[in-house]
Amino acid sequence: MSTVKVKCPGTVANLVCGFDILGLALHEPADIMEVKLLDEPRVIIHNRDAYNLPTEPEKNVAGVVFLSVMERIGGHTGFEVTIEKHIKPGSGIGSSAASAAGAAVAANHLLGNIFTSDEVVQFAMNGEKLASGVKHADNIAPCILGGISLIRSIHPLDIVSIPSPDLYVTVIHPQIEVRTSDARQILKQQVLLKDAIRQWGNIAGLVTGFMKNDYDLIGRSLEDVIIEPVRSILIPGFDEVKRKCKEAGALGGGISGSGPSIFMLSKDDSTAKAVESVMQEVYNKIGIDYHTYVTMINKKGVEIVAGY
Ligand code: ADP
Repeated sequence: MSTVKVKCPGTVANLVCGFDILGLALHEPADIMEVKLLDEPRVIIHNRDAYNLPTEPEKNVAGVVFLSVMERIGGHTGFEVTIEKHIKPGSGIGSSAASAAGAAVAANHLLGNIFTSDEVVQFAMNGEKLASGVKHADNIAPCILGGISLIRSIHPLDIVSIPSPDLYVTVIHPQIEVRTSDARQILKQQVLLKDAIRQWGNIAGLVTGFMKNDYDLIGRSLEDVIIEPVRSILIPGFDEVKRKCKEAGALGGGISGSGPSIFMLSKDDSTAKAVESVMQEVYNKIGIDYHTYVTMINKKGVEIVAGY
């Protein structure tokens, strides 16, 4: 096999209380990438979308991942990729992670699965570093592995897959720009002990709730007392969306990644759709364009959809 087509899902990182350590994969939106093995050591990138992302390998996260794989294996191998992006860059739903994860999984597949899943995650993290300046894995891990991932540690890499019920996810992407650097800069570098205690209680509660299918516990634990109060000021309508979504039956939710997207988890499809309507009403009133998704947690992660 010399060509492979992969479907690379969007992801929600910074899962409320799980800033930098918990993320989940979505069914929609998802990018498609077609990757071909070359017998010369170069990377060629084509874009089949309207986002005008760089095609220089060093400036595109997929290119950076291929280059890091090539550096590891040596020889004359190269990669040609066509990227069809459906996850808007800068949306907060893991656009760069989808390309990085897709590149790493496709390259490994074409090379005969010579790398472990931790190594595939490491290659993909090289790409994420280009997009955000730091090597983090809370989008990459769920994108590759599917489901919900806990990044217990980056050095050394320690990723734990957390089983969960089949939760529905409603996402609204307001068409405004929140720069990741701004979202990082406004964070306080110190936390109060009482806030830390509340936060780690919530993280433990959330993980336990997922594992025990305990919806009430999940709902109670979807609370962030450290990051959200600071970051949410960058997202117009955030507090109103959150309050009204919960009134409509959502278990809870918060900022997706570093924003501007907001996500909510629900027990069933009809609640997830009611939550979508509530989100739309708030943004219609504010007068900001948006895109919404009603989807589910994707338990597969990056998927090989064709090979030839
Ligand atoms: P998101 O918030 O949706 O996760 P990111 O902020 O992680 O998006 O990534 C977007 C940034 O990464 C943009 O500056 C974009 O130009 C850059 N980038 C480079 N290559 C890619 C790629 N293949 N896919 C998405 N973004 C890319």
